[in-house]
Amino acid sequence: MKNVVVCEKCGAENPVYRLTCKECNSFLRDRVNNIDFWKTFWKIFESPDKAFFTIIYAKNKNMVVPLIILAGIKTALVSLQIKTMITSANFGIDWLTFILSGMVFAVLLLVGYAYLITRLNKIFGLETRFKDNLAIYTYAFVPLIITLFLLLPVEFALFGEYWYLANPLSAEINPAAAHILLFIETVMLLWSFVLLITANYVQTKNTFYSVIVSLILCLILFGAPAIIYG
Ligand SMILES: [Zn+2]
Repeated sequence: MKNVVVCEKCGAENPVYRLTCKECNSFLRDRVNNIDFWKTFWKIFESPDKAFFTIIYAKNKNMVVPLIILAGIKTALVSLQIKTMITSANFGIDWLTFILSGMVFAVLLLVGYAYLITRLNKIFGLETRFKDNLAIYTYAFVPLIITLFLLLPVEFALFGEYWYLANPLSAEINPAAAHILLFIETVMLLWSFVLLITANYVQTKNTFYSVIVSLILCLILFGAPAIIYG
């Protein structure tokens, strides 16, 4: 795999994240100190590739810690939903334990996976940084994080905890509302998946590789808790 920035002064090939040329030290791009959260937030919807470049360029990865925790909470809820829909069985442990352990699992997995992909990229001849990979993965979950603030209150107002319980199914309480909410949830989930692929593509310029590593991450992220607590 190859993804380089060619220095205009000396022609040397540099990794995408570099601020200055490794050969002649001349500047390759403008300096970015911080991620402007709201600007990046909107850019993720307008032109995700540009948003991911800004995140990679930024010296400080603002908001990654709160965002990764929110992404972890949402991941736990999504895996619970998937498990409920597949098995139609109520789960046996209490809410707080499930969400907390699911969140910790998701955060550890994201950190571990970002590290693994950094190593894997290197094996394929591509120099990327762990903190960049972790930051772009985390920001890829913005659509799912939005559902925590916009959809979750509606879901709980309409269905209470039955939204996540198989018996009675929320589709039987209010079919129209349940289907609309599930549809939006699915769209946001797919959106995050596409963003994850985009994030990997920005780093690697390899579509096949980006799809595969994103797919594996999502399968473990949303599938594993369902299996562990199933
Ligand atoms: Zn140079």
